[in-house]
Amino acid sequence: MKKKLLLAGIIIFSMLAGGLPLANAASDTPSSVKRAKFEKTGHVFWDIPVNEKLVALTFDDGPDPKYTAQILDALAKYNAKATFFVIGEEAERYPELVKRQAREGHEVANHTYRHHFRDGHSPAVLKRELDKSDKVIKDLTGYSPSLFRPIAGYYDKEIVDTALASGYNVILWSWHQETRDWSRPGANKIVENVISDTRPGDVIIFHDAGGDRTQTVKALERILELLYKNGYKCTTVSDLLYRANSFLPATLR
Ligand SMILES: [Zn+2]
Repeated sequence: MKKKLLLAGIIIFSMLAGGLPLANAASDTPSSVKRAKFEKTGHVFWDIPVNEKLVALTFDDGPDPKYTAQILDALAKYNAKATFFVIGEEAERYPELVKRQAREGHEVANHTYRHHFRDGHSPAVLKRELDKSDKVIKDLTGYSPSLFRPIAGYYDKEIVDTALASGYNVILWSWHQETRDWSRPGANKIVENVISDTRPGDVIIFHDAGGDRTQTVKALERILELLYKNGYKCTTVSDLLYRANSFLPATLR
């Protein structure tokens, strides 16, 4: 009983924090089985294996008036490109930051309009949330986003089908790259998580909003330094997808 309560507590906390892959918390299907089923669609991704030393840094929940600009500054220093899964409502509030993301070559992607966890379960509401956020992003960047990251990484068939029907690829993140930066484990710990097991095609999750992100910014500067020292470059998720496809035999595309 106590164990169950503890699990429920962890689930609720992580839903609020928006960081854990909750995909299977309430299901008996093992994560890897469920993942394989969705990967077969060819439109749901965790890792995006490529031949080159490239990774995709991704930032959820922004833009944030304090931290997003600091993150953009750090990325610019290394000419690193990233993907920002913005919340539509926040993008409207801080349009200049989204414009700057696009202007500096980053990818702006859809993370719903309001980021209300419970809404994610209703296809009709999710469709509205995606459309509304799409419009905000298009008005600010000039293009419609093609990537969607579900809130708190929670996905099921309805969510995936709704996103796919709206023309999105669904992007989760590499399981071995769970930075848990939302839990503020210390900048060194975030750096260690990423650097200790970097592989070509990793999709690495961070948060540029939703609380004090000082540790994320500090960790990012060190991560960029170490990645580049080790011959890695940072690109957008869509660029990884393009490269992953371009070396597949035509029959598998
Ligand atoms: Zn989120």
